[in-house]
Amino acid sequence: MVAIVDAEECTGCELCVDVCPVEAISMNDDELAVIDADTCNDCGDCVDECPVEAISME
Ligand code: SF4
Ligand code: SF4
Repeated sequence: MVAIVDAEECTGCELCVDVCPVEAISMNDDELAVIDADTCNDCGDCVDECPVEAISME
């Protein structure tokens, strides 16, 4: 399992960046959230935080 951002849904609000305990989420050049699968520990916090449900665990 790893958290995945749906680029079609992400609004670039950056709320998930702040909530991630291991700093696995960064913003790309298009100002969309990107999750580093090697750093993500599958905690699911960003899934709960995202206001537009753009993050899922896959
Ligand atoms: S699931 Fe947890 S560790 Fe992984 S990106 Fe989201 S907040 Fe960070
Ligand atoms: S919380 Fe959701 S909408 Fe906001 S930057 Fe993260 S993935 Fe995108």
